[in-house]
Amino acid sequence: MKHQPFESWLFQETELEADQLQELEEHIAECESCYMMATSRDAVDEILRKPEMVGPVPGFSQRWLERQQVRQRFTYTRQTSIAMGLLAVVTAVFFGFLLFEVAQLVASSQALVIETLRHMLEWIQWLSRLSEFVGGFVKVVVETVPTSWWAGLGFCLVGVGAVWMASVYVFRPKYLRKGV
Ligand SMILES: [Zn+2]
Repeated sequence: MKHQPFESWLFQETELEADQLQELEEHIAECESCYMMATSRDAVDEILRKPEMVGPVPGFSQRWLERQQVRQRFTYTRQTSIAMGLLAVVTAVFFGFLLFEVAQLVASSQALVIETLRHMLEWIQWLSRLSEFVGGFVKVVVETVPTSWWAGLGFCLVGVGAVWMASVYVFRPKYLRKGV
């Protein structure tokens, strides 16, 4: 069954001609599909027209306005409290993060201090080990080298020192020489 042009006519904005309306009614009487469409269209039309058809009760607009104001005030209060609540939550979250960061920073700086202390301890250990090693080396040398050699070395050092002092005295600058 052909549903055109009846489907178009059903949703046409302008008024139909008398003969078109006749044809449409005849078609709808026979065609279930178009009948369903027509009834659903009528239902939609009714819903859309209802606010226009039902006139406002006298004083309705005034009451509506008052109620609207009360509702607006309520909405405003609610929105304000919601905003305040959100602000509080955001602030709390922000400070929470800040606190967390600071705590982490403190923890990391503590870790840094501990790390530095450990390094220093390692250095001290290393130094003590070095001094142990050097001391051991010196001890070994002292024990190994005969005393006479040490005496000889001592005399040599004293001799070199004496020679150095004598040369300093001999080659001293002119302004240090007396009676010249
Ligand atoms: Zn049809």
